[in-house]
Amino acid sequence: MNFHVLTLFPEMILQGMNTSITGRAIAKGLLSIEAVNIRDFAFNKHQKVDDYPYGGGAGMLMQAEPVYLAYESIAERIGKKPRVVFLTPQGKVFHQSMAREMAQEEDLVFLCGHYEGIDERVLEEIVTDYVSIGDYVLTGGELPAMVMMDSISRMVPGVLNNQESGETESFAGNLLEYPQYSRPEEWHGKKVPDVLLSGHHANIEKWRREQSILRTAKWRPDLLKSADLTNKEWNEVRQWKKQGKEEADQKDKEEI
Ligand code: SAM
Repeated sequence: MNFHVLTLFPEMILQGMNTSITGRAIAKGLLSIEAVNIRDFAFNKHQKVDDYPYGGGAGMLMQAEPVYLAYESIAERIGKKPRVVFLTPQGKVFHQSMAREMAQEEDLVFLCGHYEGIDERVLEEIVTDYVSIGDYVLTGGELPAMVMMDSISRMVPGVLNNQESGETESFAGNLLEYPQYSRPEEWHGKKVPDVLLSGHHANIEKWRREQSILRTAKWRPDLLKSADLTNKEWNEVRQWKKQGKEEADQKDKEEI
């Protein structure tokens, strides 16, 4: 999979991505990441890429032409019109299924805005996807592009050592992952649940599934609505909720 990033800060992208799992995948040739400096396509005296917005208002705007030329340099080199993701707080919020779907592409271009954003006209011409990483405003699109590339990379076959770990971690089947423990068996007086030490694989799987459902019900009930649960599991969720409510009511009574 080839990532191409249009940015004013290429060193930020390259330093960020050349470490850990993505760094190893680049070294193995499973991923390639290039950062194209938009400033290299500003052919004026000071390689200026921003200007005042028409109509006034705060801040500066990235101009259309250098962004377009930088994009064209990639399109020409790879010989096709690539999918272009513009990172923007106004876009569709990024999630795991989007990562899974984008991992099918051979080439993905990420366009990182800065200042107050980018002249709308070039966005209309080149952008195929408008994506936000959450409802808050950052200084630039570089961190969001890295967040997306990291998450998409995990879906590329061979990037994770143990492919299974990508399939069982949080959001698989719309559930959060179960709690996990490593050595020692007891730490700060807290013991690892007995079932995990039992060596009984079926019981371990059962416990993990229950914990995943319980944790999702507690922390992300919005996800649970679309999770694939059996009737028995839905009944258990209702039971847990009822039990939790009764315990909370009892606590309230005691406090009065
Ligand atoms: N004026 C813009 C607005 O109100 O929509 C915000 C501009 S922001 C200061 C500068 C750049 O950071 C944006 O063009 C975008 O590339 C990036 N950015 C900021 N927040 C983001 C978010 N939540 N998700 C994705 N990109 C973001």
